[in-house]
Amino acid sequence: MKIAVAKGDGIGPEIMDAVLSIFDAAKVPLEYEFVDMGKWVFDKGFNNGMTPEAKATIEKLGILFKGPMETPKGKGVKSINVTARKTWNTYANKRTFQTLYGVDTVFSKAGIPIDITIVRENIEDTYGGVEHLLTHDVALSRRFITRPGSLQVIRYAFEMAKKKQARRITCGHKANIMKLTDGLFLECFYEVAKEYPELKADDVIVDDLCMKLVTRPDNFDVVVLTNLQGDIVSDLCAGLVGGLGFAPSANIGDHICIFEAVHGTAPDIAGKNIANPTALLLSGFALLQHVGLLDTASMIENALLYTLESGVHTGDFGSKETPSLNTTAFAQAIISNFGKKPAHNPKPAMVDMPTTCTVINLDKNPMLESAEGAQERIVGVDFFLESNLQPEEIAQKSLRHGGVKFKLVNISNRGTQVWPTGSKFTNLVNQYNVRFEGIDETPLNQQDIIGLYVSMTGNFKIASLELLNQWGEKKGFSQAQGQ
Ligand code: NAD
Repeated sequence: MKIAVAKGDGIGPEIMDAVLSIFDAAKVPLEYEFVDMGKWVFDKGFNNGMTPEAKATIEKLGILFKGPMETPKGKGVKSINVTARKTWNTYANKRTFQTLYGVDTVFSKAGIPIDITIVRENIEDTYGGVEHLLTHDVALSRRFITRPGSLQVIRYAFEMAKKKQARRITCGHKANIMKLTDGLFLECFYEVAKEYPELKADDVIVDDLCMKLVTRPDNFDVVVLTNLQGDIVSDLCAGLVGGLGFAPSANIGDHICIFEAVHGTAPDIAGKNIANPTALLLSGFALLQHVGLLDTASMIENALLYTLESGVHTGDFGSKETPSLNTTAFAQAIISNFGKKPAHNPKPAMVDMPTTCTVINLDKNPMLESAEGAQERIVGVDFFLESNLQPEEIAQKSLRHGGVKFKLVNISNRGTQVWPTGSKFTNLVNQYNVRFEGIDETPLNQQDIIGLYVSMTGNFKIASLELLNQWGEKKGFSQAQGQ
């Protein structure tokens, strides 16, 4: 079987070489097709960080084993890692965090075992990276949470929890504040939970979840979250088990899967052959399990656990009393322990992944659409406009545009109502949301909205607008604070 391999940037080539040397020593029956991906490929003028040949190879083979890739902060190219996950719809990011004997943490010293799997939604949320400067002072990011996208990842999490015989599956969210976006994710969670009555399913608000994870991590088993919250919580969990050097990840889709470490390119130690290859090796085990090489995966994993237990370590962890090994020597130590069993938690040949993905040729993009509910109707519009006037002045100018179809309902600034009621203590920025709704039950259409838009542009620069949709009694828009 062939898989695609991209060594990546920074420490990527060093840790990938170490892991592949371990695979070769274990006679893993995989062939590797090395592909060109990473910052160095961007620098050669390929905007998505990969050559067309690399893209074609990965789409043909269906499995990519990759090292970390560099992304400039705040400016420049989009993350190649995020682009790859999104382009190939690897909707579930599975990250496993387990106590490793030989890797001392406050919890291992206190005898509290950790075995947490975070399933992070991998495509949506603010990672769409759809951002605009609405005024010179106001930046806006669009946060996409969709029903089909949420159902895909949540169903994967339940299926995995079932295979793993998990004690509990928890949804982390912020649905108390983001009632439509996180609210939709939570609704999907309990919808899927009904199909798995044998699993204990519950939810925790994400800030409370963080507090509970750092006090009693052993109370958690599988946790599913939206993209950004999942990203933050999984790094927190990496800290619980000894740091990023021990955090593997699998990006699961229906047709393409990507296996990589959670950590980045570690530019501060790149090129020194001192990086810890454990996280990439653990990601490699997930890959081996995924392709059905269960015995090989558990043999190498037992050798790794034995090595860690015996106090062998790289410079980023372990006792300061014993000298650390470099990346290559650490890999050799694991190879020399092939066939040995650790005293703690030896790995049986088992798999906790739901199913392997199937490689197919697609002739068109799959459309994910859930069944339509009640009839959708337009009941109003939010205009996001630039102004440094006071709320009352905005209201007076806006009121004259409503005509016979629209009434001005409210004006808010950064989500807080400032008209018809508000407080003089609310600080303002030069970007308002002016909301109009239909005067009566007469349905509105897009032409009505355009008419109002054109009229409003007589007084204001409008940066964007959002239709206010309603399905039956269900409103598809949030209220302002204080409304
Ligand atoms: P980082 O994970 O690269 O490094 C954070 C710290 O952890 C550094 O001190 C580093 O030396 C240490 N570290 C990380 N991996 C290690 C390992 N295997 N062994 C020993 N120490 C290790 O995070 P960063 O510095 O914020 O990011 C650097 C670059 O990596 C950025 O361009 C970022 O965008 C990219 N990145 C890529 C991925 C990915 O490819 N999936 C993930 C995260 C960050």
